[in-house]
Amino acid sequence: MSEGKIALLPDHVANQIAAGEVVQRPASVAKELIENAIDAGATRITLIIKDAGKTLLQVNDNGSGMNPFDARLCFERHATSKIANADDLFRLATKGFRGEALASIAAVAQVELKTKRAEDAVGQKVVIEGGKFIVQEECQTPTGTSFIIKNLFYNIPARRNFLKNDQVEQKHILEEVERIAIPHTSVHFIVNSNGNEILNLPAGNLMQRLKSLLGSYIQKELVPVEESTPYVKIAGYVSLPECTIKQRKEQFFFVNNRFIRSAFLNHAIYEGYKDLIGPQSHPRFFIFLDLNPSEIDINIHPTKTEVKFTDDKTVYMLLSSAIKRALGKANASPSLNFENEMSFAAPVQNGQPKAPSIGYNPSYNPFSNPAPADTRTNKAHWESMFEGFQNKQDTTEVIQQELSSIKSESVEFSPIQLNNKYIIAVWQQNVLIVDQQRAHERVLYEHYLKSNLQHPVASQQKLFPDQVELSVHDFTLVKELIPELKTLGFDIDVFGKNSLVVNGAPADMEGFNIPEILEGILETFRLNTIDAKVEKHDNLSRAIARNTCIRYGKSLDSTEMKALLQSLFACENPLYTANGKHVMMTVENTEIEKFFRK
Ligand code: ADP
Ligand code: MG
Repeated sequence: MSEGKIALLPDHVANQIAAGEVVQRPASVAKELIENAIDAGATRITLIIKDAGKTLLQVNDNGSGMNPFDARLCFERHATSKIANADDLFRLATKGFRGEALASIAAVAQVELKTKRAEDAVGQKVVIEGGKFIVQEECQTPTGTSFIIKNLFYNIPARRNFLKNDQVEQKHILEEVERIAIPHTSVHFIVNSNGNEILNLPAGNLMQRLKSLLGSYIQKELVPVEESTPYVKIAGYVSLPECTIKQRKEQFFFVNNRFIRSAFLNHAIYEGYKDLIGPQSHPRFFIFLDLNPSEIDINIHPTKTEVKFTDDKTVYMLLSSAIKRALGKANASPSLNFENEMSFAAPVQNGQPKAPSIGYNPSYNPFSNPAPADTRTNKAHWESMFEGFQNKQDTTEVIQQELSSIKSESVEFSPIQLNNKYIIAVWQQNVLIVDQQRAHERVLYEHYLKSNLQHPVASQQKLFPDQVELSVHDFTLVKELIPELKTLGFDIDVFGKNSLVVNGAPADMEGFNIPEILEGILETFRLNTIDAKVEKHDNLSRAIARNTCIRYGKSLDSTEMKALLQSLFACENPLYTANGKHVMMTVENTEIEKFFRK
């Protein structure tokens, strides 16, 4: 018999292929290593990154450590201490279980492991590069485990080249950290990036953790949710209706302490808010569902962020009624019926200890659009002044006309920011108060408006194209707009029934959630079509600007403020948004003089 054509793939090749699924970017490595540390019972986990994890990504834990044998074996594919047979799959309490994370990571990086168990006098060091074993030797190391991952994708340049800039990659890493840190509040997390500590979350309760992540103001805006049945236990916090915000952010579901996405759970939450908030308002939520692991299938997606319940309907119903009840309890909803109240467990708001303020770096906010720092409470003062001044706009028209004709580069501003909302600058002894969101909206609007078929907006191709599911309504609309959207930098194609594939997006939308942005754009587009008969290209430019501009609540440094003011004054019309709203107010020098004469 002659030799056949089939050959088994060498292990390191198989691991490299598998790595494509597990390791997409530095953030995936951070996630896997931190989850392993949690599974090992660590109470303190430190993540150290250099260049957003591209050069170095290290995770130190004080968990169980490994014996010399496991220290070597853990890098083998399907090596796991967490399941012994297929039945165990249904009883899982740990994060990992496939035993492929370390093998995959080691296949595409240079890895050094140091580990020691409490009962051992010396530790073990193992070095593996590109899946090839280099050395194992004894070493001095504290009890616990430290993984150092250097030069991710060093042996796959194509993958390395496709990593985004450091800012974007770091944002992904911090998102993964949040998703693990929120449900594991008894673990102390520290993140250090390029030598600076950017996150320090001491152990505490859930509210303390949310306050460390988002700021102390969050406590006043949230109400506890609590619901318990034999099938599912629901707990967590949601926004008061009056504290909902304009963007969907800080919306988290955890099933058995694992972060998941779920459109239907999301829907259940909004159902709970029905008639209490407007269509443009979004609650923050941090919802924990606990079920017997046999009632869920969490493993239907390779990155394990989706979930199936054996009884979707019950979960939906319980969640939306738990939300209604929580809001009712908080007296947010006068129309609610309180008769059934006794049948539900009482929320546990009282006696919440005050969070220690240690360890929170106020200049860091893990969310892309930081939450406004108490703007609501401070609003009374500045906003009412701002509103009062608006009528006087005519008297300062002259200054504004002048401003719109000046050459932006010739202006030297020393702007300051107020309430993370307005930029205050002085120009020729007049005070300018610029609305940051409207200003940026204007800048973006003109940028997109200028594009045309000959000069399309630069588009960045995506390595992993986004697939977007749309309603029939949105799908019909978007199909008509595809050529127009191409001009504006969106490389989109129809992909089956009611869904699209986004191959590329405008280059300066890096870091945005494109499917979400696209939905927002369609919504705004449709509103504009109803409100004003605007031509397509103009309308889309407005919609994109509206959905991608910086928001109130974003803190800007002085370079960013200067850049924004300069681009604003380079606009054709810096004074108004496309929809005719004021971008800035000015307080004339002479007015100031007049006021202080009395
Ligand atoms: P999985 O987590 O799916 O089991 P991994 O490849 O992530 O697979 O890890 C393989 C094994 O290595 C784990 O099952 C565990 O026994 C061991 N291990 C990994 N990280 C640690 C750690 N930080 N502390 C102790 N043991 C670890
Ligand atoms: Mg694992």
